[in-house]
Amino acid sequence: MNNIIDGTKISLKIRKQVKTLLKKENITPCLAVIQVGDNKASLVYIKNKKKACEDVGIRFEHIKFNDTISEDLVINEIKRLNNDISVNGILVQLPLPEGFDEGKIINQIDPLKDVDGLTYPNVGNLVLENDCLVPCTPLGVMELLKAYKINLATKNVCLVGRSNLVGKPLIQLLLKEDATLSICHSKSLDIKNYTTKADVLIVAAGHPNLITKNMVKEGAVVIDVGINKEGNLLCGDVDFKEVSKKASLITPVPGGVGPMTVSCLLKNVVKAYKLQN
Ligand code: NAP
Repeated sequence: MNNIIDGTKISLKIRKQVKTLLKKENITPCLAVIQVGDNKASLVYIKNKKKACEDVGIRFEHIKFNDTISEDLVINEIKRLNNDISVNGILVQLPLPEGFDEGKIINQIDPLKDVDGLTYPNVGNLVLENDCLVPCTPLGVMELLKAYKINLATKNVCLVGRSNLVGKPLIQLLLKEDATLSICHSKSLDIKNYTTKADVLIVAAGHPNLITKNMVKEGAVVIDVGINKEGNLLCGDVDFKEVSKKASLITPVPGGVGPMTVSCLLKNVVKAYKLQN
């Protein structure tokens, strides 16, 4: 099918650009990832990030604590990394085990090293349209739309999901591109009423097959952020098989937004390095 958005290809192009830039400027930024506990999915995500960093020439530091560590010791480690000039990006792998205050911990990160874009200053600057570090998955979605030359200024965009990590930053990024937005969430009464009017439908809800063919406008661009496990297989939030017959462009899962997230993390590490130097 030629209506499939190739996130893998675009993400590899970004990685190549990052690698070339680091080589040309002869710089080696460093990303430190803090992990607490043994969440299996987190281990896979960290492994992918490490490989992507090392492939392009970013130094990767993996700091792993077991889940009996105190919140104060995690915060001390963040403070140490904040003060270490050889470290340019700090990321706390989420979710943290039960009992840890994610907001409190993340907000210890120096905003200039906050490559996940989740600290208060970065969230505020995004809303105010100031230059800042922006969460990687929303950035990845915007990069995909840009790569496929979707002019958002003329589009009705429907966003399903309003999380701090994905939906809310996307609202700001889409508004910045003059999109006309409708936002749905778990309390929305009739999401079909909104999704069927959308020229661009972006779904980040975490529910397999939430979006079926009858909920999508003919010719819509469909971006599926969801990553769900069904048995041993990964799937998104969109019924890909059926919706792809109706969409003009659609992201697969895997191979859509996922690889873009990691590539945008690399871009953020480079941006953090430049902000600090
Ligand atoms: P989240 O924090 O659980 O947020 C889910 C959002 O979807 C919430 O705003 C929720 O509404 C809304 N929602 C849930 N069920 C809904 C329904 N039936 N109808 C309409 N809205 C509904 O999840 P997240 O962190 O944003 O992640 C969303 C999905 O994207 C997950 O599958 C996650 O694995 C995936 N993800 C992928 C990447 C990637 O790299 N591709 C990165 C991050 C996340 P309320 O606000 O009312 O609760």
